[in-house]
Amino acid sequence: MISRIEDQPAPTHDARGTEPLEGRVDLPRIEAAVREILIAVGEDPDREGLARTPTRVAKMYAELFGGLRQDPAEFLKTYFNEEYDELVILKDIAFNSICEHHLMPFEGKAHLAYLPDGKVAGISKLARVVDAISHRPQVQERMTVQIADILMEHLGAKGVAVVLSATHTCMTCRGVRKPGSTMVTSAVRGRCRSDARTRNEVMAILYDR
Ligand SMILES: [Zn+2]
Repeated sequence: MISRIEDQPAPTHDARGTEPLEGRVDLPRIEAAVREILIAVGEDPDREGLARTPTRVAKMYAELFGGLRQDPAEFLKTYFNEEYDELVILKDIAFNSICEHHLMPFEGKAHLAYLPDGKVAGISKLARVVDAISHRPQVQERMTVQIADILMEHLGAKGVAVVLSATHTCMTCRGVRKPGSTMVTSAVRGRCRSDARTRNEVMAILYDR
């Protein structure tokens, strides 16, 4: 039986139904969908400038949503054993993501702090965690919480603080159109939450521009 792309349900899991589908993005399906959008808004998808647009958009989505096929915790499996028990802070990690409500980009900076308990992560690994979590349909609030929880759980940190500030194009380019507005979200865990002195210290550093 021949079934068309649009007749097939979107696969989300493997044959066993347990593991998320990995390593596969259905590029032809995205191409067909983008072509449909162009027709729906009244464009001619076959005119010269648009002819290869569906292909480009499909590849772009595969890249922007590449985090769906990554487990961010993987990046924390390699760490250094250090007796350092002071705050580790990494600021100004640039990220971009796609708002899941409008499929429009939001981008900004992530600032992370954690209080290690024997395990210190490589700084590039922290940036990779941010990338894996941002490269999927997201909302900034959830992204902030996910980064904090992954650092707590997989680094065994005594405390974690995460601050994200971002500009959302769904707010600057459409709707209320407020260019220049930024949204700031934070998540604090462990001693960065329960110990007032640690919390004040870490927040002063993370919010200092
Ligand atoms: Zn939005």
